[in-house]
Amino acid sequence: GKVADYIPEIATVDPDQFGIALVDLKGNVFGVGDHQKPFSIQSISKVHTLTMVFKAFNSKLWTRVNVEPSGDPFNSIAQLEYEKGIPRNPFINSGALVITDALCSNFDDPLVQLTDFINELAGQTCVKINQEVMRSEKNHGERNTAMAYFLKSYKNFNNPIEEVLDVYFSQCAIEMSCVDLARSFSFLANDGYSIFANREILTESNARRVNALMLTCGFYDEAGEFAFRVGMPGKSGVGGGVAAVMPHKFSIAVWSPELNEKGNSVKAIRALELLTDKLKFSLF
Ligand code: GLN
Repeated sequence: GKVADYIPEIATVDPDQFGIALVDLKGNVFGVGDHQKPFSIQSISKVHTLTMVFKAFNSKLWTRVNVEPSGDPFNSIAQLEYEKGIPRNPFINSGALVITDALCSNFDDPLVQLTDFINELAGQTCVKINQEVMRSEKNHGERNTAMAYFLKSYKNFNNPIEEVLDVYFSQCAIEMSCVDLARSFSFLANDGYSIFANREILTESNARRVNALMLTCGFYDEAGEFAFRVGMPGKSGVGGGVAAVMPHKFSIAVWSPELNEKGNSVKAIRALELLTDKLKFSLF
């Protein structure tokens, strides 16, 4: 694979790193390799923002974002015009921008509250926003900026564009280790209840919906292949991370920076494929 280079600051990471951490429903952690090393979670943060907004909006949210796989790359703008400014799903960039816009409408201090929320999910203070990565993406953010203006032209964007983009680039620049990331996804393996936060994060049926979205849309135009090879709901990021859940069993995070042409980590997917094969775990 190849390290993502459209965000220059990310292109500087050592490509040979690999870490994996599994967290069971009792909170036991099993990890190897670079599993304690923080990395740029990028689009995996779209699951955290969706979870925050899901509660605030409930069903109204789904008039602004659809729940269909796109079959297009994560940063594609093409479908947005045919579909009149309603993004296919919350995990492609256009959909995530709508979610971050909703976050800005519903929370007074969205970035601080997002950070607090992820720390709460992980059960410890672990979230750090890498300002260099944030600025690096902002300086090369033409596509996401174009998408935000396009959404606004369809009246599917309510807050000032620069403000929302700053939050979006910052959420993408969050750094966490595999261990903390797996902990923060644990509630999705546990019917919406977080054993680290000691509370219900989403209702059981809404947690299932987030998992359904991860299964069908979490890997963009490679979602089918991930379901075929691994068989778990999960979400990737261009930092090389993948977070996934096996409902009622465990959550897991894998990281290795080199990506395939779809923008998903080659080794993370391969590792999950081997793991689910060996353990005979699959949703299906
Ligand atoms: N920050 C990246 C972007 O918006 C996130 C993309 C990803 O991780 N797939 O392009």
